[in-house]
Amino acid sequence: YAPLAEIDPEVQNIIDKETWRQFSGLELIASENLTSRATMEANGSILTNKYSEGLPAARYYGGNEYIDELEVLCRKRALEAFNLDPATWGVNVQPYSGSTANFAALTALCQPQDRLMGLGLPDGGHLTHGYYTAKKKMTASSIYFQSLPYAIHPDTHLIDYTALAQQAKIFKPRLVICGASAYPRDWDYGALKKITEKEGAWLMADIAHTSGLVAAQELNDPFQYCDVVTTTTHKTLRGPRAGLIFFRRDTASGNELEKRVNDAVFPACQGGPHNNTIAAVATALLQVAQPSFRVYAKQVIANARTLASDLMEHGYKLQTGGTDNHLVLWDLRPLGLTGSKVEKVCDLLGITINKNAVSGDASAQTPGGIRLGTSALTSRNMLESDIKIVADFLHRAVQLALLLQKEAGSKMLKDFVRVATTEVEGKEGAKKV
Ligand code: PLP
Repeated sequence: YAPLAEIDPEVQNIIDKETWRQFSGLELIASENLTSRATMEANGSILTNKYSEGLPAARYYGGNEYIDELEVLCRKRALEAFNLDPATWGVNVQPYSGSTANFAALTALCQPQDRLMGLGLPDGGHLTHGYYTAKKKMTASSIYFQSLPYAIHPDTHLIDYTALAQQAKIFKPRLVICGASAYPRDWDYGALKKITEKEGAWLMADIAHTSGLVAAQELNDPFQYCDVVTTTTHKTLRGPRAGLIFFRRDTASGNELEKRVNDAVFPACQGGPHNNTIAAVATALLQVAQPSFRVYAKQVIANARTLASDLMEHGYKLQTGGTDNHLVLWDLRPLGLTGSKVEKVCDLLGITINKNAVSGDASAQTPGGIRLGTSALTSRNMLESDIKIVADFLHRAVQLALLLQKEAGSKMLKDFVRVATTEVEGKEGAKKV
């Protein structure tokens, strides 16, 4: 029972440094958030010791009476957090992450080599929605299923539902996946349902990014139209790293989705559930159901809108010209900058962002944009007035990136990198740069 710092000071030291990085810098990665201390306590608990393959009251190991209680509680809270009637919806809370939740959902809904359609990765979709390149099928969702991506409209950069309907008519998918990693607008689930109904396909929403905003009823409701809804629990939902799969009970074919989803999670895709994580998900979901979480979700969106409008006031180009949710996609191509350059400069300044493809990018490896999100800063109680300052920092970072690009290889660039990467350089060194 000796503490970590005593047993393993090396790992403790890394944790201390990362703690400092998270709290001294500005976290603008759209897929990240700062979970609560209570969630982290549950995540670091003794529950990590227990094996519990199977489901509550149907386990392959003894000693699971408290684990059963926990999993039932977590399920109940998941349904409550999303205002779902247990008669109509069920949930599996065992997925280790968003990717495994998605693969389990695909396994539940499709046979190997069935056809599926998801938003293309360069247009904001996720790897697990069927992504492949001309050279390689590199994700399980394209290796084990036949995948055809749909796209955003080249002019509006909004989901092109008309083109999607035409593609689906020819391709006849078993499954259409909606949801994205980098799409700043809301989804028309009703339009998608019309398409899948016509083609006899399942409709699945992966709301990994927006689930906190959906739970707070700040965005359209995917549960009204979809058969299955998956999510991560660590983005806008502000929980630990895990996944959830919600399934509709009232399908035309009765209760069949419940068994299909549960069997797909275990034994098809996973082994024993991570009970410490399930406890942490339950704690996070309790917090999601509080009125204060609605205030938080509203503020996340207000902050993202402020970030978008301030950047546009500086003359920058944003994909779709704004946002409905927690993220902003900034097209840097008119400036002649790449996303990786700006990401690097921001890293040196203590601002954490990520490079991201913007519509029309030839390669996802050297994208022309960056993605920004306001979930983590809002968890630090930042308001619109704070975000205006952050927008100004970003403006200055981009101007610096432009200057450094012009001066590539110069002493100025080397000095900048030296000072920015050296913790104690003294005021004089910093002033010179
Ligand atoms: N789905 C979407 C839309 C995502 O954006 C992500 C991750 O960013 C995932 C799934 C995968 O989640 P995880 O990293 O937990 O596997």
